[in-house]
Amino acid sequence: MIAVPLLTPYANTPAAGCGEMGLYVHVPFCLQKCPYCSFFSVAGGSEMHGNYAQAVEGQMQSVIESGWIEDRQVATIFFGGGTPSILAPGVLAGLLREFHKHFSMREEKVETSIEVNPATVNYSDLAQLQQAGFNRISIGVQSLSDGELQKIGRPHTAKDAIQTITDARKADFSNLNIDLMYGLPGQTVASWEKTLQVALQEEPDHLALYELTVEEGTPIALQKHQGTLNLPSEDEVLEMMAVTEDMVSKAGFSRYEISNYARPGSECRHNINYWQNGWYVGLGPGAVSCLGGRRYTGVADIDEYCRRIISGKDWWSEMEELDPEARFRETVVMGLRMTDGISREDLVRRFGFDIFEYYKDILHHLEPQRLVNIQGDRFRLTHMGMNFANQVMALLV
Ligand code: SF4
Repeated sequence: MIAVPLLTPYANTPAAGCGEMGLYVHVPFCLQKCPYCSFFSVAGGSEMHGNYAQAVEGQMQSVIESGWIEDRQVATIFFGGGTPSILAPGVLAGLLREFHKHFSMREEKVETSIEVNPATVNYSDLAQLQQAGFNRISIGVQSLSDGELQKIGRPHTAKDAIQTITDARKADFSNLNIDLMYGLPGQTVASWEKTLQVALQEEPDHLALYELTVEEGTPIALQKHQGTLNLPSEDEVLEMMAVTEDMVSKAGFSRYEISNYARPGSECRHNINYWQNGWYVGLGPGAVSCLGGRRYTGVADIDEYCRRIISGKDWWSEMEELDPEARFRETVVMGLRMTDGISREDLVRRFGFDIFEYYKDILHHLEPQRLVNIQGDRFRLTHMGMNFANQVMALLV
């Protein structure tokens, strides 16, 4: 029998609905570069914080004056990175104030998230962030084994991470996410189970559980090529996934995306908007904006980004105009990340393509393998399909 994931409460409801959009701020600074990381960020760079914040405000003005966002309201704000919490709370609060002053915000409470690295904050910082208007915190814990944290070059201990969770609760963050990683060098099924168990004892509202991917060009990719990276086997990783499903569902979480689990009502609306291929503005170097059929990628160089904004030049290095077919395919691939899948009718309405016709041959190949499930109007990955999502997506993209 094909396992059909349960429908989540947001079924058919776009996170950023019609006339709305998400706002992402990329903070490209980190304490040090983690050897597995391929995100755009630099180690150090505190001398650039002031110029960076000014440039982000400048980009905001430029986006508003361009008219590209029409009269859309901001439904969610997300400060990601990099390490947003490396900026002083006053700088982050100042940016948030500017956004509220200049963008039209959705009337009800705007989901406002910040990613935090345990090595960069204390209780007082977190209390200031909460008072400034951040109402969702995402803590980059990654592992609760000091040995594993060391192997992946994290600048904090398990104790630091637990302290940050405690401080965030004390600072009144009622919507708290913990990021964890499995498939780490030296990790065993038992140590992953222990990490999850300790994390669950902290009673987060949301869990983002990612498998380590070895990206070419990173220091750990080099270690892998040299044969010195002691990664768990494929079978062990599959066992970690099975352990995860069991433990988090018993703890009251539902999986709503390949790597994301939430207690009812705590799904991250900002990320759902990405997976539904909605509109969003990305501020900061390297950030991507998706506005209708256009995708702009900000210059991924902090100095150059600041210079361009100060001198009134374009802040993007690339602009793509996507036709409806390309956007349809993208929306299918993104939407399948969610357990709720995608709606045939919705895709026809948005792009004019019928998914069952368009992918007829591929679906005939995938369905008997129990990797995808078609039920009424909806098309989803099965539980097994979620474990092989990359292979399925490669066929659909
Ligand atoms: S803290 Fe996050 S963004 Fe910074 S280097 Fe490490 S993984 Fe990358």
